[in-house]
Amino acid sequence: MQVVYTPAHLGHDITVETFMGLSVPANEVAERAERIRVTLEADGGFTVSTPTEHGDAPITAVHDVGLLRFLEVAWSEVRAQGIPRAFLAADTYPNRSMFEGMSPEAVARHVREPSHVGGRAGFWGLDSAAPLVAGTYVAARGAVDVALTAVDLVLGGADAAYGLCRPPGHHAARAMYGGYCFFNNAAIAAQAVVEATGERVAILDVDFHHGNGTQQIFWRRRDVRYVSIHADPDRQYPYFLGRADEIGEGDGAGENVNIPLRAGATNDDYLAATDRALESIAAIPGSVVVVSLGFDTYGSIRSATSRSRPTSITRSAGGSRPSAGASSSCRRVGTTGPRSARTLEPGCVAPKAGPSTHGRRADSGRAAPLPDTCNPAALTVWPWRTR
Ligand SMILES: [Zn+2]
Repeated sequence: MQVVYTPAHLGHDITVETFMGLSVPANEVAERAERIRVTLEADGGFTVSTPTEHGDAPITAVHDVGLLRFLEVAWSEVRAQGIPRAFLAADTYPNRSMFEGMSPEAVARHVREPSHVGGRAGFWGLDSAAPLVAGTYVAARGAVDVALTAVDLVLGGADAAYGLCRPPGHHAARAMYGGYCFFNNAAIAAQAVVEATGERVAILDVDFHHGNGTQQIFWRRRDVRYVSIHADPDRQYPYFLGRADEIGEGDGAGENVNIPLRAGATNDDYLAATDRALESIAAIPGSVVVVSLGFDTYGSIRSATSRSRPTSITRSAGGSRPSAGASSSCRRVGTTGPRSARTLEPGCVAPKAGPSTHGRRADSGRAAPLPDTCNPAALTVWPWRTR
């Protein structure tokens, strides 16, 4: 299988993040992507290549151009405004209640992007969990190019392609970054496939956390079906979206499929959810599936439930065979399409992750042996003919 990777992510060199007001060791660190790369290279079954630049257009096809421009200049603004910080994170976000009683027209008229870069970070940001440093923009652009190059490979005839995207993307909405995510790599990839093929595209998101950004971007779209298996948002980030009754609206009604798992979910629960997700994907026509391949399900569900290990698409970094659960899940995927047995192989060779819940570790002062956070390798693009 072909893997796309760029060292540009190393510039997004995060060492600390904030958790409930405290500075804690960062979870979404460069080491994670490097461990994946090293593991894939050692496996011998993967060909690693570098991405090609795709420009602004694929980004602004799903993102507000203002978000792009803010991220482009944010760090230089931090320095220009003399802010002595190691990273940029907002502390004021426009909570919806701030504008209660105002008409949508009044909000549009009065709520504007401020000039202070801290205010701008709050204007465009979701939370304090996406620290921005000098190399963040270049890294985020690199991740987008990785995703788009993976699309190019698949549309060019590859059976599948694995985009080792860092920073991740699925929490980034049309006009918002957050949750370690700056540009929504999977959404940009799906949009590129739609534009190139005219077909409907499915996104399967198996990260532990709900991909609120991907859901938002395609909420009213019929041409992209978003299917996500994730932890119950009543208990886990992003808290405010991800419930089963969020099905989309307008043309997108029925195209958003959320499958939240309760705390204490078992292997059987996870595999049943996987079956349901794959059935939903198989129900629509199209030839490409984009997989948002976050591996934090492995440790996070385990730590969140303190029960069995429902993980299904990971194995240890040392190259051991997939667990029984992993094999089962891959077989499940293998039943859904003629080429799909190869689809989730990248997931099967991902590093084993340590427990955390999107950086919300209870033992926040102690670093995990292997950092485990959202979407370390954000997507696999997969050509897949439905019946
Ligand atoms: Zn996650």
